[in-house]
Formats: sequence, structure tokens, C-alpha cells
Amino acid sequence: MKFRGFILTFMVLTAYSINVAANHHEENDHHHEEGHETQEAHLHGYGESNVVIDGNDVEIHFDSPSANIVGFEYKASTQKEMQAVSRAKSTLETPDKLFSFKGTKCVATEVNVDMSALLPSEHEEDHHHDTKEKADIHSDVEAEYKFTCKDGKKLKSIKMLLLDEFPGLETFKVDWVKGNKQGSKKLFAGGFGRVKFK
Ligand SMILES: [Zn+2]
Repeated sequence: MKFRGFILTFMVLTAYSINVAANHHEENDHHHEEGHETQEAHLHGYGESNVVIDGNDVEIHFDSPSANIVGFEYKASTQKEMQAVSRAKSTLETPDKLFSFKGTKCVATEVNVDMSALLPSEHEEDHHHDTKEKADIHSDVEAEYKFTCKDGKKLKSIKMLLLDEFPGLETFKVDWVKGNKQGSKKLFAGGFGRVKFK
């Protein structure tokens, strides 16, 4: 559900892209159960990003099953699990470790990492999950990044360093929009991880 919402938003993009982070949060469905339209949205080993380059502004949305990032998808309870979450969060909050821009200099202006599905919640009583086996629980890690580049027109490519940070990401799809051009690129663990905008 939230993935489809994002795709729609992505298509009408430029003007509305900023709403994504605010909106999709409320529709916290287990979208992997939804079927045909979203079949690629939650596959272990698979992750994806949408990259939007609008003038000098670059927005990157990242979405991956939690398993690829921390090795599990239920709410962390042991110290080891909590550490895995906080370690991954600090990596995801360091854009320099995740993306390398070529052609122009880009500086992160906003970083928003959502790992709430992995953290114990104080507000809701999660009976739903309590009755489930841990292996049956699925969740995603999402992050939203905004950058300002010196000259967006000169931005040639972005290297997805995050593939090296998270070996659990075996296949990674990047959909991008740059002005009136767009493309899609599949990256693989151990590869060069570079997305060219042409
Ligand atoms: Zn899962």
C-alpha cells in the first residue's frame, strides 16, 4: 500500500515528492501480502531507491526489508538486537557512507531514517505481533535523504556505497528522474554500484 502510494507519487513527482515521507507513514500495511502490484516491494535480499534530481536538489528514498539491514524483522528485544539496530541506524544516518556523487559536489541537508518497526513501541499494545512467530513478522527499513548540489546539471552518476555497507542487499533497484529524463538500474552486491544519469 505505502509502496504503491510512493510509486504514484514518484510518477507525478517533481512537485509532490516531498509529501512522501509524511504520507506513507500512516499506511503501515504489510504490503508484501498485497500481491501482484507490489510483488517486488518486500523480498529478502532485495532493496530499492528512488532518486529525483530537480535542479540542484537531489532526493533519495531508500526502502529495504529489515532482514537485509539488521538480519531480522521483528522488534528488537535482546541487547544484541538493539545494538544491531542502532549500528545500522547510525550508518543510514551517514549519507557519505551510502552515496557518492560524481560530476558535482552534493551536501546532505536532510536525513530521515525510519526503523520504528524494529524498535519496541511504548504507545501501542502490539497483540497482533505477540501472537505471531518471529519468523512470520516482516518489516521494512526506510530512509529519506535530501541533498543540495553545486550544479545539478553536472551530476553524472551516484555510486550506491550502501551496497557495501549492507551485504544483505543482494539486488538493488534504482529508479531515477533527472529533469525530463528517467531510468531504472539494477545493481548487484559486489558490483560497481553506480547509477549513471543519461
Ligand atoms: Zn520480510
